[in-house]
Amino acid sequence: MKKFLEEFKTFALKGNIVDLAIGMIIGTAFTAIVTALTANFIQPILDLATGAHKGLYSWSEIATFISAFISAVINFVIIAFVLFLLLRVINRLMSIGKKEEVVEVTTKKCPYCKSDIAIDATRCPHCTSEIKE
Ligand SMILES: [Zn+2]
Repeated sequence: MKKFLEEFKTFALKGNIVDLAIGMIIGTAFTAIVTALTANFIQPILDLATGAHKGLYSWSEIATFISAFISAVINFVIIAFVLFLLLRVINRLMSIGKKEEVVEVTTKKCPYCKSDIAIDATRCPHCTSEIKE
């Protein structure tokens, strides 16, 4: 069971899958904004131009269009913010278990021939110079 959970964690937290899911969610939310834009700004203008809407719009109708569009934008901002928080949690989860890789220094440069030699070498294996220190 533990191995299964570990495999699922590896699968679900893979960068590609997380990116794909976030892309789909953002895309859907953005589609809602575009739909709200056409439904509340472009469609009313077309309706006026084609005569589908009799007479001019009343102020309450205009206010309804504007508030519908603003709520679509607010929806998008909330979704993006929640995704941002989710991504922070996911990144934190992914960093758990990944220990900082400590690069251990095991070589140094020979001061004479500039070859890489063992850090505790007393003589260079390349140019046979004696290394002091
Ligand atoms: Zn050397």
